[in-house]
Amino acid sequence: MYTTQPHQAPAPSRIPVARMLAVTLMTRDELLDLFRRSGALLEGHFRLSSGLHSSGFLQCALVLQTPSTAETLGRAVADKLRGLRPTVVLSPALGGLIIGHEVGRALGVRAIFAERQDGILTLRRGFSLSETDRTVVIEDVVTTGGSTRETMQVAIAAGAQVVGAGAVVDRSGGRADLGVPFHALFDIDLPTYEPSACPLCAKGLAVVKPGSRPTA
Ligand SMILES: [Zn+2]
Repeated sequence: MYTTQPHQAPAPSRIPVARMLAVTLMTRDELLDLFRRSGALLEGHFRLSSGLHSSGFLQCALVLQTPSTAETLGRAVADKLRGLRPTVVLSPALGGLIIGHEVGRALGVRAIFAERQDGILTLRRGFSLSETDRTVVIEDVVTTGGSTRETMQVAIAAGAQVVGAGAVVDRSGGRADLGVPFHALFDIDLPTYEPSACPLCAKGLAVVKPGSRPTA
């Protein structure tokens, strides 16, 4: 007779690949590696659109362009927020759209977005919130927290409660004071410098514009 071994751990091959990815992506080093491999995190010497120089450049859209990866990251962000019992995800367009949608999928709640009209962040397209809604604001990257706070105000103006905020990356250095619980999958410090005070320039390293290819 065939005997079962109920206490034996399932063979690794029986664990769905997506679930394994979710588990293995939980360390900071592996998240950083994922960002580097997708080109979402560049390290070197960059001239940013602001004119400032930096040793790093982050473009979260490049890691989110792979839907299965976006889904995995969304599930990981959702796991950090589930205890807040959110009923809706609100994201600012455009950067927050994809990750917000994936967090909404993982939480099993609506994912709506706010966009600018005449410079004012607002709900359009018939999106609405009610006073019973427990909103989480989701972004790809939080830098100063300004965009997140502005999106929180959209929910509050609509009469909803904001119970938390989440992001894939926190590059605020812990300075994004949002007044609600905030969870990111990892933090990264990418200091910026005035060109005249840039230590990389001082070392004589060539500066490049992120995403540009060397031209003749
Ligand atoms: Zn420089």
